[in-house]
Amino acid sequence: MSLPKILGDTLKNLFKKPITLMEPPEKIEPVEDYRGIHRVDYDKCISCSLCAIECPALAITMVPIQVGDKKKRYPKIDYGKCVFCYRCVEVCPVDAYIVSNKKPQEDTKRVMILYSPEEWFKKKTSKSTSS
Ligand code: SF4
Ligand code: SF4
Repeated sequence: MSLPKILGDTLKNLFKKPITLMEPPEKIEPVEDYRGIHRVDYDKCISCSLCAIECPALAITMVPIQVGDKKKRYPKIDYGKCVFCYRCVEVCPVDAYIVSNKKPQEDTKRVMILYSPEEWFKKKTSKSTSS
């Protein structure tokens, strides 16, 4: 391709509207039993690691958290890896998972697609100290 042709094409496309669309173009409500965001009630969790062991997408990591004078491991979910099979929900022996039909928040920041026990325990501690 010649230089004048490249420049011509560049100028021609410079002021055109982008042909890509923001996704999703309109908000579509998921059906009631859609497997969406699932969170852990860490008060119920007994740190057995079963959900992390069984997760086929390796989306769950057990992370150490200091609770009082003890350090325990709790599951952290990466929705960027999750395939929403709900195996973790099924295997949890204490029903610690809270399910919903909500889609993970679409965001370019990776931190937004993590559900982490660190944040949960931080919020819990700040709630109990403020009340
Ligand atoms: S729903 Fe499936 S893929 Fe997602 S965290 Fe649970 S076990 Fe892993
Ligand atoms: S399976 Fe349930 S109890 Fe075991 S680590 Fe996962 S959330 Fe906690």
